[in-house]
Amino acid sequence: MSYRIGFGVDFHQLTGDRDLWIGGVKISHYKGAIGHSDADVLLHAICDALLGAACLGDIGIHFPNDAQEFKNIDSKILLKRTIELIKGQNYTVINIDSTVCLEEPKIKSYISEMQKIIAGFLDIPVRDISIKATTTERMGFIGREEGIAAYATVLLKKD
Ligand SMILES: [Zn+2]
Repeated sequence: MSYRIGFGVDFHQLTGDRDLWIGGVKISHYKGAIGHSDADVLLHAICDALLGAACLGDIGIHFPNDAQEFKNIDSKILLKRTIELIKGQNYTVINIDSTVCLEEPKIKSYISEMQKIIAGFLDIPVRDISIKATTTERMGFIGREEGIAAYATVLLKKD
């Protein structure tokens, strides 16, 4: 049996005329994230961590942001496809730890729904999906509410 750790990070700009999707959940907010897809910063960081653990490149290689196929795509589809790639290499996910960095709004009340969605795709228990949130104490582009970031680590097992 072998274990592989993976790390992923993602950033998106925020603007007034987009929806805000985080962890597969639509967040009620006056700003949303700009991106070729639905710009779900957390799912993108998790996809990159999964791909990284399996040494399969990054999300941009598998789902190019200039491909019409992925325009405004639901990032849950990208997560599903990423999991298929991981499973194709005989990996299973042990756990995920992640942090979303944003100034506003507070996402605490959405976290259990995010965990359920992600756990459902990965077919692992909700307690194995950790999602945390933090601000940057009003500093930098996140503090100015110009952008959002997410970081994720995953542990994979290969039997
Ligand atoms: Zn992204």
